[in-house]
Amino acid sequence: MNFKKCIRCGCFFSSKDDICPNCAPKDLFEMSKLKSFLCNSVEETTVREMSNGTGIEESNINRFMNNKDFMKSVEKEKNNTNINL
Ligand SMILES: [Zn+2]
Repeated sequence: MNFKKCIRCGCFFSSKDDICPNCAPKDLFEMSKLKSFLCNSVEETTVREMSNGTGIEESNINRFMNNKDFMKSVEKEKNNTNINL
């Protein structure tokens, strides 16, 4: 069994994920928050602006932005929003 260190709280756990089960819901919550923030922002936003706008730590935002699946789902949602307008 492989033990990993959670990137959010630093606890050790065994999983293939980078986030422990305790932090997983927080991550999901922040991702959906960031997603709606990005979908509602028309212009390019810096990580700092995202952090100020959502209250999410910059390090976590950077991590989400590097998550291809997350960014794909943001793009998808953005396109849907534009069609509805
Ligand atoms: Zn954790």
